[in-house]
Amino acid sequence: MLRTASCSASLTSASPFFRHFPLSYSSLSSSTGALRGPGRNLRRVAPPASPGRRVFLRRGLRVPSAAVRRVNRQLSRLYVRAVATQPAPSYPDVGQDEAEKLGFEKVSEEFISECKSKATLFKHKKTGCEVMSVSNEDENKVFGIVLRTPPKDSTGIPHILEHSVLCGSRKYPLKEPFVELLKGSLHTFLNAFTYPDRTCYPVASTNTKDFYNLVDVYLDAVFFPKCVDDVHTFQQEGWHYELNDPSEDISYKGVVFNEMKGVYSQPDNILGRIAQQASFGGGDPKDIPNLTFEEFKEFHRKYYHPSNARIWFYGDDDPLQRLRILSEYLDMFEASPSRDTSKIEPQKLFSEPIRIVEKYPAGRDGDLKKKNMVCVNWLLSEKPLDLETQLALGFLDHLMLGTPASPLRKILLESGLGEALVSSGMSDELLQPQFSVGMKGVSEDNVQKVEELIMTTLKKLAEEGFESDAVEASMNTIEFSLRENNTGSFPRGLSLMLQSIAKWIYDMDPFEPLKYTEPLKALKARIAEEGSKAVFSPLIEQFILNNSHRVTIEMQPDPEKASQEEAEEKSILEKVKAGMTEEDLAELARATEELRLKQETPDPPEALRCVPSLNLSDIPKEPTYVPTEVGDINGVKVLRHDLFTNDIVYAEVVFDMGSLKHELLPLVPLFCQSLMEMGTKDLSFVQLNQLIGRKTGGISVYPLTSSVRGKDEPCTKIIVRGKSMAGRADDLFNLRYWLALRFISFFILLQMNCLLQEVQFTDQQRFKQFVSQSIARMENRLRGSGHGVAAARMDAMLNVAGWMSEQMGGLSYLEFLRTLEKKVGDDWEGISSSLEEIRRSLLAKNGCIVNMTADGKSLTNIEKSLEKFLDLLPESPSGGLVTWDGRLPLRNEAIVIPTQVNYVGKAGNIYSTGYELDGSAYVISKHISNTWLWDRVRVSGGAYGGFCDFDSHSGVFSFLSYRDPNLLKTLDIYDGTGDFLRGLDVDQETLTKAIIGTIGDVDSYQLPDAKGYSSLMRHLLGVTDEERLRKREEILTTSLKDFKDFAEAIDVVRDNGVAVAVASAEDIDAANNARSNFFEVKKAL
Ligand SMILES: [Zn+2]
Repeated sequence: MLRTASCSASLTSASPFFRHFPLSYSSLSSSTGALRGPGRNLRRVAPPASPGRRVFLRRGLRVPSAAVRRVNRQLSRLYVRAVATQPAPSYPDVGQDEAEKLGFEKVSEEFISECKSKATLFKHKKTGCEVMSVSNEDENKVFGIVLRTPPKDSTGIPHILEHSVLCGSRKYPLKEPFVELLKGSLHTFLNAFTYPDRTCYPVASTNTKDFYNLVDVYLDAVFFPKCVDDVHTFQQEGWHYELNDPSEDISYKGVVFNEMKGVYSQPDNILGRIAQQASFGGGDPKDIPNLTFEEFKEFHRKYYHPSNARIWFYGDDDPLQRLRILSEYLDMFEASPSRDTSKIEPQKLFSEPIRIVEKYPAGRDGDLKKKNMVCVNWLLSEKPLDLETQLALGFLDHLMLGTPASPLRKILLESGLGEALVSSGMSDELLQPQFSVGMKGVSEDNVQKVEELIMTTLKKLAEEGFESDAVEASMNTIEFSLRENNTGSFPRGLSLMLQSIAKWIYDMDPFEPLKYTEPLKALKARIAEEGSKAVFSPLIEQFILNNSHRVTIEMQPDPEKASQEEAEEKSILEKVKAGMTEEDLAELARATEELRLKQETPDPPEALRCVPSLNLSDIPKEPTYVPTEVGDINGVKVLRHDLFTNDIVYAEVVFDMGSLKHELLPLVPLFCQSLMEMGTKDLSFVQLNQLIGRKTGGISVYPLTSSVRGKDEPCTKIIVRGKSMAGRADDLFNLRYWLALRFISFFILLQMNCLLQEVQFTDQQRFKQFVSQSIARMENRLRGSGHGVAAARMDAMLNVAGWMSEQMGGLSYLEFLRTLEKKVGDDWEGISSSLEEIRRSLLAKNGCIVNMTADGKSLTNIEKSLEKFLDLLPESPSGGLVTWDGRLPLRNEAIVIPTQVNYVGKAGNIYSTGYELDGSAYVISKHISNTWLWDRVRVSGGAYGGFCDFDSHSGVFSFLSYRDPNLLKTLDIYDGTGDFLRGLDVDQETLTKAIIGTIGDVDSYQLPDAKGYSSLMRHLLGVTDEERLRKREEILTTSLKDFKDFAEAIDVVRDNGVAVAVASAEDIDAANNARSNFFEVKKAL
C-alpha cells in the first residue's frame, strides 16, 4: 500500500524487473488495438504524470487522473477486494481428509469479506511448502509461485534465473515454453518478476483449461528447468562474450545485461538503486560479467525448492484440483533447509544521517548546472509495522504527496528549486518500510535548499497538521478506491497476491493484509475522536523527523560518464582479447556461432507439441458485446452502457478539436493540465482539488487522436473522464442550478462543468511549473521509452493523426516546450489568452458526445443532471472548421541521447500498396513479433525486446526494438521480414496457436468501466459490431496463404519505410559511417 511513484517512471527500491517488458510491450504490441479499445493505436497522449512501469505491475490503471491513479497505487495493497458480487456464496470446500490424502494439512481458513473470498492456508507436509487457496466468483483465475531469493551481490543472479527458468524444462524441452504460451494461450496475465528479495512467477486466465495449462508449464519451469544443465541459456539470458570473427572486437551480449544497461541509462533508476542500499538482485551491468555458471546453478539448487516456495491460487476453479496439481510436483521433493537460509534479516537503523553523491550519464546539451537530483530517504523501522500504523502511514503519504494540492508536493514544486519530484513516497513492499522525497532538475547551489525545504515543510506539517477538507478528500479518495477496486487490466487476484505476499514472504500472516475493514474503521474513529493532527503529527515525528536513518542522495550530471563507461567496457574486453591465444579466439568464434545457430534453429514440432494448448473449438465464435444504447439529449449524442458497476457512475464527455487553430495544438496538453490544476474565481486550485477529492472518484482531461480507416480526416478529440458514487448525497454542496437534484452522481457533472467553464487561466507561476514538469517528463520518456518516441516520430511522418499526436507528446512537443519555457516569462498574456481560445474552440454542444457506464437505475437517475450540464454548454465552438493536414518530412532520423542501449524503429503504410484490412493481419503481426523478431532481435541480437505493431486504422506497420545493443543490424532484420514470411512453413498446430493467442488479445479481460470506454472508442473510430464479428471470423480462419500474401504488403516497409532510432552518439556515428549518412542526426538530450 504505502508506495508511491508519484513522479513519472520512478523506479524506487522495491520495483521488480520483468521477464519481458510490461507496460510498453503490452500496449505497443497490441496489434489488435482496434478491437480492444484503449491502446497505442488511439494515441492517447498521456496525461500529466504518466505512469511508470510500476503502475503496470500494480494495476495497469486505465483511469488516468493523476491523483486517482496515485492513490489507487498506494492503496491497492490494503484495499483490494475481489469482484463485487452478491452475498457470500458457499464455495466448494476441501475437507481435511481430502487434503491429507494429497499430502497437505489445513493450517487455517477464513472468509474474507473484503474480497468476498474463502481463503485457506495449506502446508505441504513433506516439504513445508505453503499454499494460499482463495476461492470466490472471479473468473479471472490467478496462480503464482513466489520464492525467497536474497541476492548476495550485484551480479544479477535472481534476475537472470528468473529469465532462464522459462527457457525450457523437463516436461517442456523446447527453447522457450514461455513464448509458446505468449503465442498460443488465452492468458490475461503472463510474466515473471524479480524483487530485491523474491522472485514471482504469476499467470492468469479466465479459461479453466487454459489456466491449468499455464500452471503446469510454470511449475515445471520453476522446479525442473533446463537452464541449470545448459550453459547456453545462461549465456543468452545472462551474459557471454561475442566474437563473430577472430579479427573483430569482442563484445558482451545477454538479454538481462542489456536490459540493465537500459535501466542504468536512466538517472531516476540509478537513484532508486542507490536508495535501496543493499545488494541488488536486478544486476549491475558492470558486475554481471563476474557471474559464473556454477554460482548460477547453485542459486537455483538452493532456493528454487518447495520448502522455500509460497504458492497462491485464486478464482472460481475447484480448490481440490489445485492441490492435486501441486501434490504431483511437491511430492517429488524432500524437505530442504532453504526456508531458513533464505530468511531476510532486517537492517539495523543508522544512528547518524548519511550522504551519498553519485554521477549519472548526461548529454552535453542544455544547462548541466541545472540537472542535479537530490532525494532524502528514510528507513522507517527495524521491525515490520502493524496494519493500522501502515494504513495511517499510507493515508499520511496521500495527504502529503498524493495530489497536486498536497502540501509537501505543492510547496516543493512551487519553490521553483527544481523541475519535478523524483522518487517520492512511502514504500512498504519490503521487510522494512521506506519513505523518500526529492526533486530533479535542481541547480547545484539549490541542492542544499531542497533538502532544507523538505525538512522544514515536514516540521511545519507535524506542527500544524492538515486542513480538514484535505483529510476528508483523502479519506473519500481512499474509500472510493476501496469500493471500486479498479485494477485496470491487471488481474484482481494478482493484486491481492502481491499484498498478501508482502507479509507472507517474511513469515507473517498472509491473511492479515487482505483484511483492511477493521483497521480502517479504527483509524477513522481515531481521526473523528482525536482529530487528524493527533493521529498524523506523531507519525511524522517518530518515523521521519526523529529518525536518524536518513540517507540523502545527490546525483550530479556527468556528460563524460556514458562514453567513459563505454570506454571502460571496451578496455576490459580488449584485455580479455589480448589474453587469448589464437586457438582461444577461434574457439570463441566457434562458440559464438554455435550459440547463434542454436538460437536460430526452430524447435522440432514434437517439442512444440508438448506445450499444452487449446483447440479452436474451445474459442467462442462471437466477440463480447457491450450493451450500448445510443440516444440523444438536447441534440447531443449519448451512449449508455447498462453494466453492474457496484454503484459507481463512469462518465466521459468528448469534445471535438475540429475548430482548433493549428498553432494551438501543442498547447493542448498544458490546457488540459491547467483545467485540472488551476483555480476558479471562487476557489483556489487547492480548494478545487480537494472538492474533487471529496465529491468524486476523480476527473481527468486528455486529448485523443487516431486515424479512421477509410477516411482522410483523423479523429481528434478531447476527453473529459470522471467517476463518482451513484448513491444519495447527504451533504449537498454548493448547488446552484443543481439544487433540485438529490444524487451524488451529479457531482461528477457539476465538477466537470466547473473545470470546463470556470477555471481561470491566470496563474502564471503554476503554468511555469507545468512546463518544466512536462520537460522533465519528456526527457525521461526519451531515455526510458525511446521506442515510443521513435514510433511517434515515424507515425508523424506517415499520417496526420500521428503528426498531431507527436506535436502533443513527441520530440516536437519537447522542442515546443523548451521554447515555451522562455515565453512564459515574456508573454504570459499571450499564452493565457491562447488557453482561453482553446477552451472556446472546444467547448460546445456541437460535436459533443457523452458516454455513460453504470447500472440502469443510475443511468436513469443521472439523466436530469446531464440535461442541465449540456444546457450550460455553448451551442457551437468559436472559430470555423479547420482541416488537419500536417506531416513531418519523410526521412531517416537518429535522435541522440546519452545511453548505452538503443531503440530502433522502422515503419511504412501497408494500405498504400492496396492491401485491404483482413483479420489475419492481427494473427500475422503477432506471429512476426513472437517468432522472427523475438528470435532475431531479442534472443540472438541481445535486445530486451523486439516487436511490431500494426495500426489497422492508419495502415502503419512499425517495427520497434527496446534496449537494443545494435542499430543497423536490427534494421536489416526488419527488412528480412517479407522473406521470412515467404519462406514460412507453419503446420496446423502452430497456426492454431497463433490464432488462439490473437483471440486472447482481442478478448482481453475488462472491468466494466473499460468495457464502456472501449465501446466509446469503437464508436468514435467507426468500428461496428458487424465488423468485429467479421474480423473475428477472419482471425479464426487465417491460413498459411494469408501469411504469404501479407509478405507482399509488408515489403513496403523495407522498400519505402522510414527508420527512426533513439540511440547513442557513438552508434549513430558508426551507422552513418557504415552506410553513407543513412540518418539525419537530431540532438535531443
Ligand atoms: Zn528482466
